Amino acid sequence: MATYTPMIQQYLKIKADYEDAFLFFRLGDFYEMFFQDAISASQELEITLTSRDGGGEERIPMCGVPYHSAPNYIEQLISKGYKVAICEQTEDPKQAKGVVRREVVQLITPGTVMDGKGIQEKENNYIASISVFGTQFGLALSDLTTGENLVALCMSFDELLNEIYSVGAKEIVMSNDLQEQWKKQLIDRCQATLSYQSESLIHDNFKPLVRDVNDERLVSTFAKLITYLERTQKRSLDHLQNVKVYYLQDAMKIDLFSKRNLELTETIRSKGKKGSLLWLLDETKTAMGGRLLKQWVDKPLVSREQIEERLNIVDTLIDHYFEREDLRALLKEVYDLERLAGRVAFGNVNARDLIQLKKSLQQVPFITELCSGLQNEHFTLRKLDACNDLARLLEDSIIDHPPLSIKEGNIIKDGYHYQLDQYRDASRNGKTWIAQLEQQERQKTGIKSLKIGYNKIFGYYIEVTRANLHLLEEGQYERKQTLSNAERFITPALKEKESLILEAEEKIVELEYQLFVEIRENVKQYIPRLQELAKRLSELDVLQCFATVSENRHYCKPIFSNNNELFIKDGRHPVVEKVMDSQEYVANDCYFSQERQMLLITGPNMSGKSTYMRQVALTAILAQIGCYVPASEAVLPIFDQIFTRIGAADDLISGQSTFMVEMLEAKNAIAHATSQSLILFDEIGRGTSTYDGMALAQAIIEHIHEHIGAKTLFSTHYHELTILETQLSSLKNIHVKAIEENGKVVFLHKIEEGAADKSYGIHVAELADLPSSLIQRAKQILTELEQDRSDTTTLPKMKKAVIKEDSLTDSQLSLFPDEQVVPVKEPVLSKKEKSVLDLLKSLNLLEMTPLDAMNELYQLQKKVK
Ligand code: ADP
Repeated sequence: MATYTPMIQQYLKIKADYEDAFLFFRLGDFYEMFFQDAISASQELEITLTSRDGGGEERIPMCGVPYHSAPNYIEQLISKGYKVAICEQTEDPKQAKGVVRREVVQLITPGTVMDGKGIQEKENNYIASISVFGTQFGLALSDLTTGENLVALCMSFDELLNEIYSVGAKEIVMSNDLQEQWKKQLIDRCQATLSYQSESLIHDNFKPLVRDVNDERLVSTFAKLITYLERTQKRSLDHLQNVKVYYLQDAMKIDLFSKRNLELTETIRSKGKKGSLLWLLDETKTAMGGRLLKQWVDKPLVSREQIEERLNIVDTLIDHYFEREDLRALLKEVYDLERLAGRVAFGNVNARDLIQLKKSLQQVPFITELCSGLQNEHFTLRKLDACNDLARLLEDSIIDHPPLSIKEGNIIKDGYHYQLDQYRDASRNGKTWIAQLEQQERQKTGIKSLKIGYNKIFGYYIEVTRANLHLLEEGQYERKQTLSNAERFITPALKEKESLILEAEEKIVELEYQLFVEIRENVKQYIPRLQELAKRLSELDVLQCFATVSENRHYCKPIFSNNNELFIKDGRHPVVEKVMDSQEYVANDCYFSQERQMLLITGPNMSGKSTYMRQVALTAILAQIGCYVPASEAVLPIFDQIFTRIGAADDLISGQSTFMVEMLEAKNAIAHATSQSLILFDEIGRGTSTYDGMALAQAIIEHIHEHIGAKTLFSTHYHELTILETQLSSLKNIHVKAIEENGKVVFLHKIEEGAADKSYGIHVAELADLPSSLIQRAKQILTELEQDRSDTTTLPKMKKAVIKEDSLTDSQLSLFPDEQVVPVKEPVLSKKEKSVLDLLKSLNLLEMTPLDAMNELYQLQKKVK
């Protein structure tokens, strides 16, 4: 290091504290990167890699970006999950003795960005921190853009993982010693950036934030997060809200596999919102409402009281169409108050933002009036705070169409500040005087084209064309500038007025900025009230959204059963129905009762089995978030959890095969489901050989039936399983009807009682346009197989409890009932054969070359011949 130049030494010293970040090192008008940072950044950002002499033996790799275009580059790096440390010159280079002092002024990370492409209007941007307490985990979440802070205790690592996945945290802060396998899972499953912070003591200035948190474990988890934020952000965190404790058991549990399978907030294929339940529901009018809707979809309620409170308001809003439409129009004018509060705290709002704030606040009295007309207790009890004093301040102070820049004046209204008005008068009077002077000069000289102009270099001047120069009185005008066909002059009177005007203007700009900053500081005091208002407005927005969707899509109000029954009449899949055109969608009923807890669904591929299963789950979720449901009648229990195994999306990210994922999902359901849960298993066991798969499927069905009692929809193409109806008391067969017309299969998408008559697999293949010769051959093979099957006496007879749990993976033979299996006798071997067998067993194959093996085999064979 000693040989490096002082500046490179300074760079290396700073970089040592930010090893996991790109260090943007300010050098004049550029941010430069050096060494490995430069190599990586040049690849990631596709910018030219150069090098410079740094005093060492080799030239140092270097690349850089102009400081004014840096935000764009920073955004690119952040969206790829990197961190960027901004290192600025913190003293005037002219004053510096030696190397200019530099410091990192902010660390920008995926979880702490405040704007740019990474920030979606209708999504929170959470940063999480985690702590381990024996087998339990503390989780803290913070969204810097809105100031929201949350903490929760998770009972297992899986629960923690699910939660982080479902809130979509972009960055996770932890202590360095967290188990490697956990770190890996957090990166793989949640695609989050990891950051390290060991601190777990809350500093005094943040203590008020945790006053409602009684669990020390959660306080220390939050301490880790806030210390990290303070260390990296190095700026005001005034807008952070009090930390709220939430309990995972207050929400329906849906593990991350199931959330993905049910496409609640994004689709499996495109990973986008379009096509998801969230997309269908999103009739929100504000960004805050959009974010809250996502939170609600992620966390359906389990408290009947809370669900019914939401439904009750939705009811009222459905009954008042015109008021609802007015409400939607008012909400449309409401700006993102939560994020605005964050930007106020960080000091980066401009006058246009404050005008938006004013306009938003001005909607509130109308919203209040409208709500009180609805005569719903909820609205009379929970009033909106319109922050009238703030709205008035903004109305009085800021002009309606201010410029973007806050440093060039034209922001503050006349009449707001006495001194400002004085300066403005001076400036305006001066300008009137100049206009008058122009008239006087024209009359005095008789030059009609004489004009008074202004430029930054010469200030005010009198311009006379060359042809008219002779008309000017000698000695009165001082020549300042010569143009091709005109001359510019000044006079002492003009200059005197000019200095008055310029002085006033300079003062105006200065004072306007000062006043704006004062107003902004003033707004800061309203942050908690604005945040509370934002919360109320976003709730209202989501509830009107539910009412709008429910009415537009003809949903019905769900009723919750006391006897654990489920009855859905004319149920539809909300998203498929919307995408298809409602005319074509075939509605179906679903019924579960004490004697009917498991439904085994058969029917051809593509007939609609998985759509049917999903629609039941989505109906339950919609009901439990407080929305109406796509059916003509719905009586539902309140589910504590939903588990699914649907679709065959390989989990490529974590490198697991389809079958393994299938088994993991099945295990998850079996380990955690209760009698209050809903399980959807689609074609389980398909990923292995027929007997293996069938054996597993039967064992899983039996296990759920005997030990769990959860409501289960189990689709299968193993027709053999339908016999279970005769053996398991609360399992019933249903099927999706298909018919054959002129040798072709026609899907009716209609669910009926009983088992399907056949699979129609070949018919489906025919629909997919496989070559007709191939289809004919398949039909021929099928006939032969069916013939063989009816001849054989070893057809597996499905019998309850034939499969012992520990024999599942061993053999397919366990499917055959014991009474059919004749014990096999040990074969009798000659002495010679026995010795060959012993020799064979003793061979160490791993130590042998192929040639050795050939020779050995030859010898063995010779012995027994
Ligand atoms: P399966 O699980 O039996 O292979 P899917 O549930 O994937 O079949 O359904 C296949 C397609 O059939 C769906 O993409 C949808 O277009 C259509 N479909 C499913 N259910 C219905 C229905 N009830 N009404 C109309 N079309 C349906």
